[in-house]
Amino acid sequence: MNVVISGANRGIGLELVRQCLQRGDEVHAGVRAPERASELAALAQGAHGPLHLHALDVTDEASVRAFAAAIPGPVHLLINNAGVRSRPDDLAGLDSDDLTRTFQVNAVAALRMTLLLRPQLRAAGGAKVANLSSNLGSIADNSWGGAYGYRMSKAALNMATRSLGYDLKEDGILAFALSPGWVRTDMGGSEAPTAVDLSVSGLLSVLGRLGAEDTGGFFDFEGKRLPW
Ligand code: NDP
Repeated sequence: MNVVISGANRGIGLELVRQCLQRGDEVHAGVRAPERASELAALAQGAHGPLHLHALDVTDEASVRAFAAAIPGPVHLLINNAGVRSRPDDLAGLDSDDLTRTFQVNAVAALRMTLLLRPQLRAAGGAKVANLSSNLGSIADNSWGGAYGYRMSKAALNMATRSLGYDLKEDGILAFALSPGWVRTDMGGSEAPTAVDLSVSGLLSVLGRLGAEDTGGFFDFEGKRLPW
């Protein structure tokens, strides 16, 4: 299986690469600064499946175009993992430039990536697109407020995923919004209850089980359908 993963140099993205390689996938990993992605480079040298490293800034149209042009089809799985969360991201500290940047990375980029890789996804016949969302993007789950830029961007990503579920059907491509849980990464912090390997093995197993009847849906890393 050919897999494409963005934001692959640390956190959930790096672990996704590790586990996909372990199960024998061919992985195309996109990172902002390949020259600094030492952990990823070490994986490339290990006794794993083939790993290709690419420069990728998901907010830069030219960078995504060059990335997509470098990836041969078919692509069976695209994981739009790159994401940012700035803090405090509260009402008092509202910074509209920062909010817009967050929106570009967390919501707009997943659409751009999917669109530009659509030919390779179409070629797979039954490809899947996984957009890394968050419970914080659920309006139904919002019972304490705050996290404006992050919540808004992930809610927008959820809506984009829902539309992709319809629009990509004609190409046999399925699209899902997936919440990885609260995970111990740079973003999740050390207090987070879920280890990154557990979250990622859950995400990959859920992705393996989700089918055409689930496209456009929102699920957590244990396969539970989440409320919008
Ligand atoms: P990290 O902050 O640990 O890693 C984020 C990754 O995204 C880094 O590799 C970073 O690259 C990359 N990235 C950021 N901006 C860009 C960009 N413009 N172009 C390319 N890559 C970029 O986050 P996590 O691993 O924890 O999160 C991964 C995904 O899971 C995100 O979408 C996040 O929102 C989501 N998520 C995480 C949760 C958690 O508890 N950790 C909870 C819910 C959702 P660089 O190193 O260059 O900055």
